[in-house]
Amino acid sequence: MKITFLGTGTSQGIPIIGSSHPVCLSKNPKDKRLRVSIMVEWDKFKYVIDCGPDFRQQMLRENCSKIDGVLFTHEHSDHVAGLDDIRALCYRHGGMNIYAHKRVIKSIKKRFDYIFETENKYPGAPEVVINIIENRPFLLSGMEVIPISVDHHFVQVFGFRFNDFVYLTDVKSVPTEEMEKLKKVKVLVVNALRITPHISHFNLEEALNFIEQVNPEKAYLTHISHLLGFHDEVEKQLPNNVFLAYDGLQITV
Ligand SMILES: [Zn+2]
Ligand SMILES: [Zn+2]
Repeated sequence: MKITFLGTGTSQGIPIIGSSHPVCLSKNPKDKRLRVSIMVEWDKFKYVIDCGPDFRQQMLRENCSKIDGVLFTHEHSDHVAGLDDIRALCYRHGGMNIYAHKRVIKSIKKRFDYIFETENKYPGAPEVVINIIENRPFLLSGMEVIPISVDHHFVQVFGFRFNDFVYLTDVKSVPTEEMEKLKKVKVLVVNALRITPHISHFNLEEALNFIEQVNPEKAYLTHISHLLGFHDEVEKQLPNNVFLAYDGLQITV
């Protein structure tokens, strides 16, 4: 299985528009972070997790001309706002499978009402095929995917386990019963927003404590804000098996 980090930034991305913060001005490409998303590939299949406002740029950068579906973690803008840009893929390959909690589907329907229009639908609008995710395993092109339900302050978020790989973003706490699903994971991706605490996201310390608890072989941090610091400096301070993800990073699990 191949994982590509399409974006590793928090909701505003890095740099933030108009910011003169040193991290926003950094010349290091690893300090430039699009909104958070990954691509997961196995056999001939490609799925993306989340479809934020940078989706178009991410697909162009990765030279991607086909994906088999989009899994959504939750309904926040930085995770869904790029949905209109699946059009280019729909024109080539037909309706796009989208997978989400029913609450998230409801929110997407409100934001992108024209996509779900049944009468007089504008012919240029994207076509989607809705797949509701509940908190139980489901099959994706032959792969068993285990949803992991976590808390993002008062918003429920789905993380996903694909074999030995787990992707969790926008987590503030993980219910005890969901921790079971993280047993023996080899590679864990989890969010770490910044150094100081935040109401709805793990800060660095919380993310590192969580990683210690899960005890994967390797962990990658994502959904990073400029307030975490410079990529190269933060990475030097991390435990040996923990890395900062960066845009374009590919790993094999
Ligand atoms: Zn987010
Ligand atoms: Zn969020």
